[in-house]
Amino acid sequence: MSMFKNILGQDHALQILHSAIEHDRVSQAYLFHGPEGVGKFTTALYFGMALNCLAKSEFRPCGVCNSCRRLLNLDHPDFIYLFPTLNLRMTDEGEIRDNLDSYEAYIQNKKDTPWLQYHFNRATEIRRESVAFLIKRLSLSIFDANYRICLIENADMMNIQTSNAFLKILEEPPAKTVMLLTTSRLSSLLPTILSRCQPIYFRPLSQSVTESLLRNKLEYDEPTARAAARIGSGNFKTAVQVAEGSSQGLRDLAFQIMELAMGDKELDFVNLIDSLKDQLNAESVKNLLSYMGFLVNDIAVLRSNPEEITNIDKLDELKKLARDDDIFIEDVLKFLGLLEDFQRKIAGKVNLRLLMMNCFYALKDLYRSA
Ligand SMILES: [Zn+2]
Repeated sequence: MSMFKNILGQDHALQILHSAIEHDRVSQAYLFHGPEGVGKFTTALYFGMALNCLAKSEFRPCGVCNSCRRLLNLDHPDFIYLFPTLNLRMTDEGEIRDNLDSYEAYIQNKKDTPWLQYHFNRATEIRRESVAFLIKRLSLSIFDANYRICLIENADMMNIQTSNAFLKILEEPPAKTVMLLTTSRLSSLLPTILSRCQPIYFRPLSQSVTESLLRNKLEYDEPTARAAARIGSGNFKTAVQVAEGSSQGLRDLAFQIMELAMGDKELDFVNLIDSLKDQLNAESVKNLLSYMGFLVNDIAVLRSNPEEITNIDKLDELKKLARDDDIFIEDVLKFLGLLEDFQRKIAGKVNLRLLMMNCFYALKDLYRSA
C-alpha cells in the first residue's frame, strides 16, 4: 500500500497530487498552504518520494525502496531541504559553520517526530546563505533521481532580498526539478512567487481525524485524545502538545482549581499556584486555561447535552462540580469569553500569577451568581 494512506483528512490535496503523478503532468512548483500542523511537510516529502519511488505505481511511495528510504531519512543526494534557521554561516558547498547543533536537532525532529513543534532559541528565517546554497546545488546535474526535489518549508519566512533571489529560480526552473513550498501564512509570500506555483490547499484536521491520530499513532488514551483533539481545533501539533500537557497533570490541575473555586478556598488556591510556580510558564498556563474552558463547558452541558462532554472519563467529578446544576449558561459564556481574553494576554507580556488569580475569581463568580 502507498504511504499516502498515512495522510488523513487531506483527500482533496492528495487527489490533485495523485492525478499529477498518474498523468505524468507534474508542475515545476507547488505551494502547499493551509494552517499549521495538518500534514503539509509530510505530504510534500511523500510526494517527492512517490515521484522517485522504485516500486510499482499503485504502491508509490512504498517507503521501503532505496530511494524512499533515503528521502525519509532526508539525505537523498537529489533532495534539497530549506527551512527557517538561525545564522548558519553556511558556505555555498553547504558546510555549516555556526549553530550546527540546532540545525541538526531540527532535522532529527523532522525525521523522528514531525508532529512536534521544534523551538529554536532565537528568531529564524530562510537566509540568503540557504538560497545561495540551493542555487549552487541546482547548477549541478541530478545525481540519480527521476525528479530532483526541493522542499522549502515555511517559504513565507524569506525576506524581500531572499525572495527575489529565489524568484529567479522559479523564473528559469531547472529541468526535472520540483519545488515544493509550504506555508501557513499565504499573505506573507510575494505575489510574484505565488503566481509561479500551483497552490494546493490543506484543511484544518477534523476532530475525529485528530483524535484517531492521537489514539492510533501516538497511543494516547481515549479521554486524553478526545480532549486534546477539541482543544487543538484542527492543528495536530497543538493537539499533541495538549495531550502531552494532560499527561503532565494539567487537566487534573484544572479540576483541582475548580473544586477550590467551588469551595471558596482562596488561600488554598494561592498556596497551590505558589507551589507550582516553577512549572507554570506561558505555554503551560495557556494549556491549563484551555482545560479550564472545557471543564466549565462540560459542567454547563452535563445534563442538557452529555454527548458534548470532553472529559468523558470524569463524569463523577463533573457532577460534583456542577453541584445541583446551578451554573447558568450565560455565566459560562461570559467566563469563556474572559478565558479567550486571558489567552490573548499570555501571548504578550503578562504577570501569570495575577492572571491565574483573576481566573480564580471568575470561577468563583460562576458559583456565586447561581
Ligand atoms: Zn519506494
